[in-house]
Amino acid sequence: MSIPTQQHIINGEFVPPSSGQYIDLIDPVSGQVAGKAAAGNAADVDAAVAAAAEAFKTWKNTPTSERAGIIARMALVLGANLEELLTLEAACTGLGVTRLKGFDIPAVMQFIQIFAEGLESYPFVEYPPVRLAPEAHDVRVVKQPLGVCGLITAWNGPLFLAFLKMLPAIAAGNTVVIKPAETASLAVVRAMELMQDLLPPGVVNVVTGYGQDVGAALSSHPGVAKISFTGSGRTGTMIQKAAAETMKRVTLELGGKGPGIVLPDAPIELTARGATFGFLLGSGQICISGTRLFVHESIHDELVARMVELVGNLKAGSQFAPETTLGPMAYREHYERVLGYVESGKAEGATLACGGGPLQVDEYSDAMFVQPTIFTDVTPDMKIYNEEIFGPVLSVIKYSDVEDAIALANDSCYGLSAGVWTGDPIGAQAVAQRLEAGTVWVNDWHAITGDMSFGGHKQSGYGREINIASLEGYLETKNYMTSFETDPNAKAFFGLVH
Ligand code: NAD
Repeated sequence: MSIPTQQHIINGEFVPPSSGQYIDLIDPVSGQVAGKAAAGNAADVDAAVAAAAEAFKTWKNTPTSERAGIIARMALVLGANLEELLTLEAACTGLGVTRLKGFDIPAVMQFIQIFAEGLESYPFVEYPPVRLAPEAHDVRVVKQPLGVCGLITAWNGPLFLAFLKMLPAIAAGNTVVIKPAETASLAVVRAMELMQDLLPPGVVNVVTGYGQDVGAALSSHPGVAKISFTGSGRTGTMIQKAAAETMKRVTLELGGKGPGIVLPDAPIELTARGATFGFLLGSGQICISGTRLFVHESIHDELVARMVELVGNLKAGSQFAPETTLGPMAYREHYERVLGYVESGKAEGATLACGGGPLQVDEYSDAMFVQPTIFTDVTPDMKIYNEEIFGPVLSVIKYSDVEDAIALANDSCYGLSAGVWTGDPIGAQAVAQRLEAGTVWVNDWHAITGDMSFGGHKQSGYGREINIASLEGYLETKNYMTSFETDPNAKAFFGLVH
């Protein structure tokens, strides 16, 4: 495939960056340039916001049935162009095609279904019970779109994240400017190009580029009503501050340090497989990864030994090869950061059960693979215990009293995901219910369905995504009160005038 050079998409047109600059997007397995993205700046953001604001004037008034129909047709367009989109997504992220086909794409299709089907019955207008004389008053509570929404996303599931935000935003009647991650925008730009055939110009715009240029301009732009962001807490804080100037609505989906508690009755095989999947899906580059595992002392050694065995069976390689089960870190700076955490674990005295450094694969000398790494004897004062590593690194902590495990699990600034491994899923609810996280699994990890109201507690962010209720985050409430009263004494009668 030839290397694409992509432009911004503004008002339904390809628009070259006003800087004239492009960013090389690197395939993290081959080390080759996979494509080029326009390096946007504040002027490009201005143009995109202006286009979105103009489109909003009409789009906000389109019937919900029309919007639902457009969204439903997106599934057909994606389906017809799947191979190309998968190739682009895998090339600049290193994400395995097997995972993309099995998880990311089905999830996007499910999001489309949720908003296409849920839109027509969504209560955009409600008639609450009237507490005044019903024949004289009419009260309506109406949900209206906000305006132009800026959608800023991370690199660890670019298509998934872009659709997760774009669909509810436009379903609710908003228009959007999408800012994908600078290392991973190829499939997002192509997908949104394909969507232009279904949408009026300006409803969905894309401006690519660096966070400090495009993301910052979007989050402080006076013409933007809302920012929905997925990324690190550090950037989330900057966005929140920038957005505060113009009182933008903000949704933040941030990081995590998912604790799993393995109860003494947990089945070893199920737990070993589940917890390994929990910390290694996407090579650990997932916000909901299970990265702290509290294991009861009675099964600690047996469980760790089995997990080490399972990890030893993984095969690193090309993201396009079906036999590959372990992917690379997405870009060099991140690769080095993850290796730095591994070194800090060793230096702080944690015990290496397996892994502990870079993973060399002969055919790919420039690839950025990290050995799946399990540390035991991890203590709460260590950096690897507290900080989000976002790589294939697990901290195992042995416990004897479940009360201690629950307290430690909750003693984190994060609250995104958590879980319990047990032989008694009903009995374990008592533990699960005490875990402080937006999503808690029992005998499972990474399971996400369209019914979920997904989001974080504590510093993992706020706002909710995925299910139809997430439309709420893209709507403003307005009350209409109409009085049909003709008798001037009536207000006094109701006691409202003294
Ligand atoms: P990041 O914060 O570095 O970047 C995310 C996006 O923000 C990128 O598009 C980037 O260009 C942009 N950005 C950077 N600086 C900006 C600024 N000053 N103003 C506005 N935008 C700016 O995060 P990342 O490294 O891309 O992603 C990894 C993080 O994302 C991890 O912490 C992970 O846990 C989190 N994440 C959370 C979820 C969730 O749903 N909670 C999902 C995926 C990833």
